[in-house]
Amino acid sequence: MGFSSITKSLVKDNAASDNAAERKAASGFKSIFVSSPTHIWSSKVSWRVALTAFLTIMLVQTFVLNVGGVAQFRANELKSLELQARSAIASVVDPESRGTRTSPFNESQIERMFRTTHIRGLTVYSYKYDFIKSYGEPVHLIAKFGQLDETYMSENGNVYELIFKSSDIQSTFIVVVQMDSSRVEEKVHDYVMDSIKIMGILSLLVTSVLMIALGKWLLEPILFMRANLVAAFKNPELPEIEDSPYSSSDEIGAAIALTQKLIKQNAESLKHIKSTAEDKIHKLAYYDSLTGLPNRTLFVQTLSEKGNVRRGEDVPRFAIVTLDLDHFKDINDSMGHNVGDAILRSVGKKLRASLPESAFVSRTGEDEFAIMMPLVDDALNARDVAERVAGVIKSQPFKVFNEEFQVRSSIGVSTYPDDGAEPDMVLKNADIALNRAKEEGRDTIKEYSEDFDRAVQERFQILRDLRDALEHNQLDLHYQPQLCLKTGQVIGAEALLRWWKPDNSKEGGSFVSPGVFIPVAEQSGLIVPIGQYVLRRACETSVRLKKDHGIDMRIAVNVSGNQFTHGDICSDVIKCVHDTGVDPKMLELEVTESVFMDDINHTVSILNDLHKIGVELAIDDFGTGYSSLSYLSQFPIDRLKIDQSFVRQALNDKENASIAKTIINLGHSLNLKVIAEGVETKEHENFLINQGCDEVQGFRYSRPVPEKKLVEFIESYNGDLNSFKG
Ligand code: C2E
Ligand code: MG
Ligand code: MG
Repeated sequence: MGFSSITKSLVKDNAASDNAAERKAASGFKSIFVSSPTHIWSSKVSWRVALTAFLTIMLVQTFVLNVGGVAQFRANELKSLELQARSAIASVVDPESRGTRTSPFNESQIERMFRTTHIRGLTVYSYKYDFIKSYGEPVHLIAKFGQLDETYMSENGNVYELIFKSSDIQSTFIVVVQMDSSRVEEKVHDYVMDSIKIMGILSLLVTSVLMIALGKWLLEPILFMRANLVAAFKNPELPEIEDSPYSSSDEIGAAIALTQKLIKQNAESLKHIKSTAEDKIHKLAYYDSLTGLPNRTLFVQTLSEKGNVRRGEDVPRFAIVTLDLDHFKDINDSMGHNVGDAILRSVGKKLRASLPESAFVSRTGEDEFAIMMPLVDDALNARDVAERVAGVIKSQPFKVFNEEFQVRSSIGVSTYPDDGAEPDMVLKNADIALNRAKEEGRDTIKEYSEDFDRAVQERFQILRDLRDALEHNQLDLHYQPQLCLKTGQVIGAEALLRWWKPDNSKEGGSFVSPGVFIPVAEQSGLIVPIGQYVLRRACETSVRLKKDHGIDMRIAVNVSGNQFTHGDICSDVIKCVHDTGVDPKMLELEVTESVFMDDINHTVSILNDLHKIGVELAIDDFGTGYSSLSYLSQFPIDRLKIDQSFVRQALNDKENASIAKTIINLGHSLNLKVIAEGVETKEHENFLINQGCDEVQGFRYSRPVPEKKLVEFIESYNGDLNSFKG
């Protein structure tokens, strides 16, 4: 690249560049980059070198001139004056005058000599130094006696006197001559001036050659290197550098080759760093680090890419299956996160390995996976795909750290584009179906239906109405008696929430089942204030029963897991006991097994605190949850409540009967009372008596009733279990 092209590209690049730093750097170089070939003369470095060279040459020449040149020149001039005088005098000496005391010159000769030579005066002495005769300007020997070899030069250099001995002029006389030497000084002056001119021209010549050499061998390669560095600076990743035309056999060529190598190396490593970083960012943004599977974002993106077909083409159909591992949180909490993570990894691996290549498997949430599979075969529908996925999970237990875990999953299914034209909508619909599957007891597959949306809307309406009901005191408590199977006595009652929702019907309203509104309250967190309300009402009832009717009996209150995790159940109880004056022994809290799964240590410490206050504790619906039987002995509980499903089916299903039996034995072995709920018939009662169950509760004795009716029931009851019908 020539200097002009470097300069041009630089100027062009400068115009394009809006980077201040680049502009600054480039403008720094601009002063050097002037169009070829004058660039050498505008280079500061060149000028410095040239000036130094010029002055050095001048200095050396001046020194040489001073030390020998001028003195030698003057000496030569004087010598030639001397020779001129000597030959002139010698030629006019009269040989007859040898040995005489008369002047060897005649007047006319002398006169001509004065005219033709620079001699202006002449005095003749005998060889014994006697004065004989003087011509022209007076000049004397006297002053020079004893120093015959000496010459004399006047101060202004215009007069030069010298002595010729008799041998110099082949005579017997001594001649003292005065010469006009003013020309000599003029010549010396001219000589000095000429020398200076020559020196100047020479210096200029040398400097110019030096500059050209500098430009060619130093500046030009350096500018080339500089241009490459500028290109690398402007675009380090893709530097537009030219191959070096300079041989790398000299130092500068080698330096250029090295810079080019470095620029290329730097570009390579930058590219490498960038592409690694891009890969990493891509991985972080689109992949799950634990399982290595694509994440939700990539899932949605892939579905939208696959569904984005050209106009006129058929939109491909996909089964969208979302899967949530049942009770994964319990495994995580009880076995530790390492085990949880290992299970998730194994599930991901197994899904990937067992499903066909065309299936897109991703991890979309903590224990949630999503699979998309093209429905190419008409015989295959989304449900078939879901069943296949369920089969993969269920087929064999997962072996993690030498332990086997039987994993179950809840599955939601939707179909693209049937259940939504937008990919994330279809995925959300599969999630809605998944939530349904979870609500319906897990380990099931649920297909998305538009009714689900309606159900979601209804739940929002229930939540709004429930808030109103709580504010307007529309919530009430009913009580269901609990009886001792041995004595037949009423030993307590369970407080059950009732919501009478007024409407425009003939009846003026209807009861909303707790089975409907309790889950909504739990999901929204409204269960915490509702629970506080129930607790207070139950305590007030207990105090009233004793005070007004002399009835001393325990009231059981259902407590939700949310009140443990998001509320402060201990201070709620303490406050109620303090405010109402209820005897804590007359209060029982029913908690379900799910409470123990959240955080066992936290739960145990709360249960211990509650026990210290004096309230009794029961595990409700025992046998239906994910029983952590091994922890049961650590809990300070008083009662196990067998879930009504076992009681109801005990008579016609052996397995349920044996579960009920096992629970009773387990409870007794832990010194706990066992109460059975859902007792509807005499047969149920007999079965429970035979199994040694302690207490019962159910429609056989009484439905849940208002406080007033409960009092009536107790007051009218004769203590004989056989007096109940059915
Ligand atoms: P639960 O605590 O297991 O309550 C027992 C349920 O069984 C009650 O239903 C009761 O009416 C019903 N039941 C009692 N005996 C029989 C019987 O012989 N046959 C049949 N078929 N059912 C019987 P309910 O009142 O509808 O309550 C349902 C669930 O709602 C309760 O189950 C409890 O989990 C929840 N719940 C009710 N009130 C509250 C409350 O105040 N707070 C909380 N957190 N949950 C409550
Ligand atoms: Mg209960
Ligand atoms: Mg129950």
